[in-house]
Amino acid sequence: MKDADSILIYDTTLRDGTQGEGISFSAEDKILVAEKLDSFGIDYIEGGWPGSNPRDMVFFDLAKKKTFKHAKITAFGSTRRANLKAEDDPQLATLLEAETPVVTIFGKTWLLHVTEVLRTTPEENLAMIEDSVRFLKEAGREVIYDAEHFFDGFKDNPEYALKTLKAAAKGGADWVVLCDTNGGSQVTWLQGVVKQAVEEVSPVPVGMHCHNDCGIGVALSLAGVEAGARMVQGTQNGYGERVGNANLTTVMPSLCFKLGYHFAAEQNLEKLSRLAHSIDKLANLVPDSKAPYIGRSAFAHKGGVHANAAQKVSRSYEHIEPELVGNRQRILLSDMAGGSSVAMKAGELGIEVDPKSSEMRSFIKRLKEREARGYEYENADASFQVLLSRHFHGTTDNFKLVSYRTISEVVRDNHENISEAVVKIRVEGEEDIKITVAESTGPVGALDHAMRLAFGAHFPELRNVQLIDYKVRILQTGLGTDSVVQVLMLSGDGEKTWWTCGANPNIIEASWQALRDSYRYKLLER
Ligand SMILES: [Zn+2]
Repeated sequence: MKDADSILIYDTTLRDGTQGEGISFSAEDKILVAEKLDSFGIDYIEGGWPGSNPRDMVFFDLAKKKTFKHAKITAFGSTRRANLKAEDDPQLATLLEAETPVVTIFGKTWLLHVTEVLRTTPEENLAMIEDSVRFLKEAGREVIYDAEHFFDGFKDNPEYALKTLKAAAKGGADWVVLCDTNGGSQVTWLQGVVKQAVEEVSPVPVGMHCHNDCGIGVALSLAGVEAGARMVQGTQNGYGERVGNANLTTVMPSLCFKLGYHFAAEQNLEKLSRLAHSIDKLANLVPDSKAPYIGRSAFAHKGGVHANAAQKVSRSYEHIEPELVGNRQRILLSDMAGGSSVAMKAGELGIEVDPKSSEMRSFIKRLKEREARGYEYENADASFQVLLSRHFHGTTDNFKLVSYRTISEVVRDNHENISEAVVKIRVEGEEDIKITVAESTGPVGALDHAMRLAFGAHFPELRNVQLIDYKVRILQTGLGTDSVVQVLMLSGDGEKTWWTCGANPNIIEASWQALRDSYRYKLLER
């Protein structure tokens, strides 16, 4: 793509993204992420810093054996050390050993870093940039030069900051990328600086690398593009050091739907939510429900005027059609729910009901009673769907728990946890009540295992169902540990996830109710 409005998307989830707290990928995970990004149409995938850790070495070894359809894999590193020839620098040699078509190196822009951190002269720093770029170009690589702390350096000494970019251009860099490494820049000022940099290094194209420290990583990236930058570096779901990098799952749809720019992945934006959530899964993170475009709440409306209007004309309360990014409209229930919002919610779940029927009146009565007892259907779609289909479709239970008992033992000296559960259960199609016993580290796990034992081969679809997240809170204040406990449970089967709820003064019973609804929901597919 050579048009003036085409942008290249550079993903650094696997390098800068892994600097984020709680984010860790094995080399094999990294390959999986790279494959997903490649099939999505991401242009550059930065795999890591070869030589910085053994995991990244393994990644590049594995990546050598793969063919990527569209993306170019890049290895990341730094300019040569001071007072050393580029060809003698071991770190640059390691970058070449990664055998990637593209190498991205960062160098210093800010004189504070040149003199205080590198402890070298401004002239030697310029030579380090130019030599390193030239050395990698001569080895046949596409070279992307990341100007670290570009904006802080520019604030301090604009002339020197621009000199560093020109040194990279002189060395033959294919791209010069302006990094807001500390994430402190503001939009209007940054845009002016980007404009100036684009003019100074022309015809070498410019990229943006922004961080989200002021909550505007995406805004800074988009402002840079509007000032002439043609590459955006960022991470999926905004992973990254401190509060993260510019979030590509927001940048991409904004570039496409709001600003009209083109990029290879734009044709796959309707798979964006799935991509983002599958990467969260590999990172072992719960997807952020408030993420723009792709979050569960991004197109959620509470019952009432908004929900009504959004259902009639989605444009009335939604900035884009949710399907464009693979998301969907959701109608939330609140305790003010009336017949029409319950009917809307039911329609969303594929159940047609008449909002004025007597069945609906009795359903709402039941719903309100249960909400008063602590069940929270607003955030537990799956429990709501189970309740709806039992009420309106007369769905019967595939199993019935007659009774259960759990015992927990904790041996404090050697930190041993053992819980045992005994369940008495009636499974559909079987004459007798079954009694099963199972153990786990905790009582809910033991119950789950005992239930599955009792199910035997009856419900093969439950085999892949797994607990993903679990939240507990108390509902009444003033009762202390005697309060009613509300449990919200997120389950998944590898393809989709669903929330269920439970409420009881006994935390095990509340958990059991949420677990039961999770099984029942999955069995509704029958
Ligand atoms: Zn960064």
